[in-house]
Parts: sequence; C-alpha cells; structure tokens
Amino acid sequence: MTTTSPLDELAGKQALVVGMARSGLAAALFLRRHGARVIVSDLRPAQQLKPEIERLLAAGAAIETGGHRKRSFLDSDFIIVSPGVPANLPLLENARAQRIPVWGEIELAARYLRGRLIAVTGSNGKTTTTSLIGHLLAALGERVLVGGNIGAPLIDMVERSDAHTLSVAELSSFQLETTDFGFHPQVAVMLNLSPDHLDRHGSMENYVAAKQRIFLRQTREDWAVLNARDEYCRGYAAQVASRVLWFDASGGEVENGVGMRGEAIIWRRAGGEPLELMRAGEIRLKGRHNLENVLAALAAVCALFPPEQASPQRRAALAAGVAGFKAVEHRLEFVARIRGVDYYNDSKATNVDATIKALEAFPGGLWVILGGKDKNSDYAPLAPLLAGRARGVLLIGAAAEKIDAHLRPAGIAARMAGTLARALEIASAEARPGDTVLLAPACASFDQFENYEHRGREFKALVARWLAASAELAPPPQ
Ligand code: ADP
Repeated sequence: MTTTSPLDELAGKQALVVGMARSGLAAALFLRRHGARVIVSDLRPAQQLKPEIERLLAAGAAIETGGHRKRSFLDSDFIIVSPGVPANLPLLENARAQRIPVWGEIELAARYLRGRLIAVTGSNGKTTTTSLIGHLLAALGERVLVGGNIGAPLIDMVERSDAHTLSVAELSSFQLETTDFGFHPQVAVMLNLSPDHLDRHGSMENYVAAKQRIFLRQTREDWAVLNARDEYCRGYAAQVASRVLWFDASGGEVENGVGMRGEAIIWRRAGGEPLELMRAGEIRLKGRHNLENVLAALAAVCALFPPEQASPQRRAALAAGVAGFKAVEHRLEFVARIRGVDYYNDSKATNVDATIKALEAFPGGLWVILGGKDKNSDYAPLAPLLAGRARGVLLIGAAAEKIDAHLRPAGIAARMAGTLARALEIASAEARPGDTVLLAPACASFDQFENYEHRGREFKALVARWLAASAELAPPPQ
C-alpha cells in the first residue's frame, strides 16, 4: 500500500484515549479527523463531562465514563494517555506487557509534526522562555507555532505545520514521561531543576529521569541548551548525544553558548569569536531568573540561526525582539504606576521558590502580599529577603496563620489582611512614591480563587479600580 501522507496510517486504527481533559480531547478529535476508531475513557462520571462528551460524540468517538474497561485497553492498537493520568496505572502496565504502545499526546503529535521542533522544559521559567523563543523567531520573520503546555496542545499544531515551520513547545515532566521514538526535538532546552511534583514522580531521581527524556532521541545534528549554573544540567551534558550550548547568567562568558561580559550579552560558538548580541539593560523582564530565561531563549534561537552568519539587520531584529518582549501575564507582570507606586502581579508565584525569585527582583520598598492555599511549605526562607526589602507584609487566605508563625521568629511582623482587596487597600494607603506593591503569594490560589489566573486578574482589576479612584484624588506629595 502506498501512502500519500504519514497521517494516512491512522485510518482504521483502534485507539484508546485515557483522560478527557484538554490534551486528551484534542488527541481524540485529531485521531477522528484522520479516520481512526476512537474510544475515550475517563474515571469521572458522565455528568461532569457533558461538553466534552457532546463534542466527542459529534466527532464519532465512543465514550466510556465512570471507570475504565480492561477490554478497551487490550483491544487497542495504541493508547494515548493524558498527563494527569499516572503512567504506572495497572491497566497501562498490562497493555505495555501486551506490547501495545502507550503514548502521551506529545508523542502522537511529534510523530506527525512537520518542520523543526524546539522543546523547552525545566522546573521554572518554561512559559516565559517558550513564549520568548516564539516571539524572537517571529521577530526574525520565521514561521512559528507555540504550544504544548501553554496555548494550543501540540497535537493541534500538526495540521498547521509544514516543512518550514518552527514549533516551540513547553513541556512538563508528565508530558515527557510518555514520549517515545517519535519525539525528537532539534533543539531541547533544559532551564533548571529543583524538587517539584515529587508526589507523583516518587523521587528526585525519577523526576530527573522524566525530564531527561527530552534529549533521548537527539543526535549529533541536534542541540541541547543547558544551564551552566545548574548541577543537574551539568550532569545531563555528559549524557546527551547532541551538541551542547550553555547559558550562564552569573556574569562570565561561556565557550559555547550565551554568557555575559559585564552588561553585554555574548554569544560564542565553540572555537568561534565572541559576539555581542545586546545589553542586559535593554531587557524589560525583571529579575535575575528572567535574565536566565532570556539567555536560554537566545541560545536556542542562535542554535538554529547562528548570528555570526546573519546580516546586521537580522542581528538587530533579534536584539529588538528581546527588548520588545514584556512579561507573560501573571509572571512578575507590571500592572500600573499609581501616585509613584508600582504594582506587580506575580500570581504565578505559587511556591516559596518563585516568591524568592520575585523578591530578589526588587532592591527594596516592597509591600508584599502573601498567602492562599498552603502546599505544605516552609515559609521561613522568605524571612531574610523580607527583612531586607519589605516595608510591609500582608497576609491573605487560608495559609495566613501558618505564614505568620514561620515569619514571626525572624522578626517579621506581618499583618492579617484576609482578602486581596483589603491587602491592596492597606498597601496602597501606606506605600510611598518609589515603593512597589507585589502580589507573589507563595501559595496556591484554590482557597479563594478558581486558579492563579483568576487571582491575578482580580488583583489587576483591583489595581485598575484604585487607578481610577486615585485619578480623582489630589496629586501625590512630591
Ligand atoms: P513555568 O512555566 O515553568 O511555571 P513561568 O515562566 O510561568 O514558568 O514562571 C513561573 C514563576 O517561576 C515565575 O513567576 C517566577 O517567579 C519563577 N521563575 C521564572 N523563571 C525562572 C527561572 N529561570 N528560575 C527560577 N524561577 C523562575
């Protein structure tokens, strides 16, 4: 049989999709579009999945809710498993034992995606770096698609891709866990690794191994972009088959990759001459962590388009692309300056580590809003930074008492504000021109909000109201 497109091989195949969330739904609809027979199975009862079921039935998929049927697993040609489903589910283990492939949506997409793939992972900074790489490639006039864990699922990018497409994908450890032979990024970026999701992965070792899968199918033709200051990244360097490019934001130059010389951001290819790409001062994103993200993004773009071979116009476009990139929403996002006080929304800082990064981004004069749903965290590490930089600490949500108990021994007198509205009211009333009000809660949001996006939008709406109200007040004292 001859095929006109690799996708034709899906016609008539029996597929099981486990999990009816965003990526499972997208994978099932994709498979139906290409003629596969599809069953979608979810543990949740049908009444919780009405819109999903409606769409799937309309597309001709079969539905299994309220539990999984063993037969559906064993009768499949392949199984697509959602990132939310534990990869070691006994039904999946059984299927694997019968040599039935078990893939994630990313593996399925990677098999059919055309053009080149730039994959980004790490514990922190994925969304920012992925978006920035997409932004820079677009600034260079390339045909680019951005998705994965952000925006469109990767599977929805397949039909929009062609031989010239550059697909930039943000990938979580869960998504990487279920990749296989088809997943082969030409550029793989590993930003950093710190303990995360250990409840699911079981140990740091497993987590490190899941992340490492990003390099598994790479060859000498490909690139691994690694953080020179991260011990896990240094460990990966010895194991990858691809060519390594380093990024290092700690102040020094690197022999191959992107580093610094004073204020200058320097690109250097192994054995080549150093080349200044731009000045750090041109970057609009705040904080050292974002400098790391910028250098990583530049290294990824320079891997594909070496600046030493580019025209001066293209090099200028690259620098202008970085300078024109503003924070992704809810990530140390500048909201407004009101009566000389800056307001920043870092609602995505849902753990202590992220809040530390946010605090480090400001020299002082801070009014910090902390609290929400506790994730079994130790808040004491925030104390030294708060002591040096905060004029006021305002606590909200369910974790307020616990945070207070962790900060008080270090001499931090936090105040109970209860709600975001009240915290903002206190901060706005007491902040002086030059100060900064920062929402970087170090907690999940689910006690008072639907999610971190909802919390961030609420903060911005409250700031907007304050902006409108303060416009009617007397000008601030000079
Ligand atoms: P992710 O997609 O990995 O969650 P984001 O770009 O959404 O990363 O950033 C989430 C939060 O993580 C930010 O608010 C910031 O506080 C912190 N962060 C971002 N980049 C880094 C980095 N390179 N290193 C450490 N922390 C970071």
